[in-house]
Amino acid sequence: MIISGNALIGGQGVRGNGGSFFAFDPTLQQTIEPQISIVDQHQIGQACELADAAFESFSSLSNQARAAFLDTVVEEIEAIGDTLILRAMAESGLPRTRLEGERGRTTGQLKLFATLLREGSWADLRIDSALPDRAPPRPELRMRKVGLGPVAVFAASNFPLAFSVAGGDTAAAFAAGCPVVVKAHSAHPGTSELIGQAIVRAVARSRLHAGVFALLTGSGNGIGQALVRHPAIKAVGFTGSRSGGLALMAVAAERPVPIPVYAEMSSINPVVLLPHAMKHRAEQIAQGFATSLTLGVGQFCTNPGLILARDDEHLTQFIATAKAVLSQTNPATMLSSGIAESYQRGVAALTGHDDVETVLQKVSEAGKGGAALFLTTAEAFLSKHELGAEVFGPASLIVACQDDAQVLAVIRSLEGQLTATIQMDDDDLPLAQKLLPDLERKVGRILVNGFPTGVEVSTAMVHGGPFPATSDGRSTSVGTAAIERFLRPICYQNFPAALLPESMQDDNVSDVWRRQDGALSKLSHLSKGEAA
Ligand code: NAP
Repeated sequence: MIISGNALIGGQGVRGNGGSFFAFDPTLQQTIEPQISIVDQHQIGQACELADAAFESFSSLSNQARAAFLDTVVEEIEAIGDTLILRAMAESGLPRTRLEGERGRTTGQLKLFATLLREGSWADLRIDSALPDRAPPRPELRMRKVGLGPVAVFAASNFPLAFSVAGGDTAAAFAAGCPVVVKAHSAHPGTSELIGQAIVRAVARSRLHAGVFALLTGSGNGIGQALVRHPAIKAVGFTGSRSGGLALMAVAAERPVPIPVYAEMSSINPVVLLPHAMKHRAEQIAQGFATSLTLGVGQFCTNPGLILARDDEHLTQFIATAKAVLSQTNPATMLSSGIAESYQRGVAALTGHDDVETVLQKVSEAGKGGAALFLTTAEAFLSKHELGAEVFGPASLIVACQDDAQVLAVIRSLEGQLTATIQMDDDDLPLAQKLLPDLERKVGRILVNGFPTGVEVSTAMVHGGPFPATSDGRSTSVGTAAIERFLRPICYQNFPAALLPESMQDDNVSDVWRRQDGALSKLSHLSKGEAA
């Protein structure tokens, strides 16, 4: 398990021909060996062409074989052992417990997709039987979903494992039968290589085409843009900044053949504090909020960056408690110097804003992020667009509202969000019902009496939301529904049984959930003769 600084193309470590750079330890503020090579345009093209060559065989693997491959990736990640955790700690500044948890989440989501494949319903099989005696006659129609083709995945800085090389986007694309070309994040290239090597070993052990996976190393926008521009790439998964996501969306849209970009970008995750809940437990809510805000130095896309509440004595109590709890926290190392600088710029903009009162601002040294809490009025928030911008880190803005109408007006003014949270008691139900339709229009997940950080990986999870939370609010990047982003439907009309793809033949669809003549069923009532 040696980190060489190589890219991984065609199952081999390949020295990038585009120069080199060093990873950086944000805690020690020093570079980390070895030199990481940067791929050039030719090498990006090679990775994409190999992915294209691998697509047919990989996408036509049986569910069982693709599930076994995902399980092999899990075994290989686990086999890296502590080397992975130590390198990820050095590159991200994140603590051991967090990274061990993230490794568990990474392997857990690969296993979840393996289970989805074995269960089989992901392909959304549909069979409409022929109706030859109907006027006009109906042909026999069979539909299934298939992988789109090679997928470009951009690893996220804030989840070096779970949203990176073998993270949710890669797991979903592999499950859909799509080869993956990953652009490693320049903040954790060594971690990326270790995980990339594990996938390469799994590809070899599973006797798959070596083009099923590639890892492109480097720093700079040119790599990602060339990757998205390559004609073999058929979809993109991205987590990062709004500017990065928008740039890649523009590249994808300008291609001769445009492709979908699933970019998760910025979100301030409003938390709405309803009056009865505030009357009974303002202090308790404030404590939960402060914990959620500072978790992982606030570097979560679901960080609670906006609080909406009525301007009364309970809000005063909430602010006092939150300030007291946040005062006890220490500024901590952020993921990269770029993220720390961007955080400090965001905090400075709020501190210097005429319409914003600084409740608390822990002084942050270089590379660190300290908690910051701000207060403004609904009038100011509604008229100053900049107050709704994401400040990535442990900062939050409280908007004091005069009445419920102002709370609703602020919600209506928001951009698309990943989450919204309602803190409510039973007596708040009428108001919650009133706010819900507007919240539904704005966000991908609505929580009651919790906090938005902490995203379960499961079948019903939605980690998505209207723009700019994501570039396409019809999808999720967490949970098994994430596979939908990398699939498309094909219909087979009047196919003789012998010509149908194997997975669509009657013997193979009989024990898989499918929509038979409109009704969901599992037991085949088509005999081979009837199906023809
Ligand atoms: P980023 O700068 O958007 O980088 C993400 C990836 O995209 C990196 O691989 C980067 O390449 C590449 N990239 C960035 N801009 C590009 C462009 N114009 N063209 C082509 N490729 C491009 O995100 P980040 O480094 O993770 O963090 C920067 C900021 O993003 C944070 O301060 C925060 O505001 C935001 N962020 C938000 C979330 C969220 O979930 N809401 C998560 C993480 C970060 P390099 O590796 O070469 O830089």
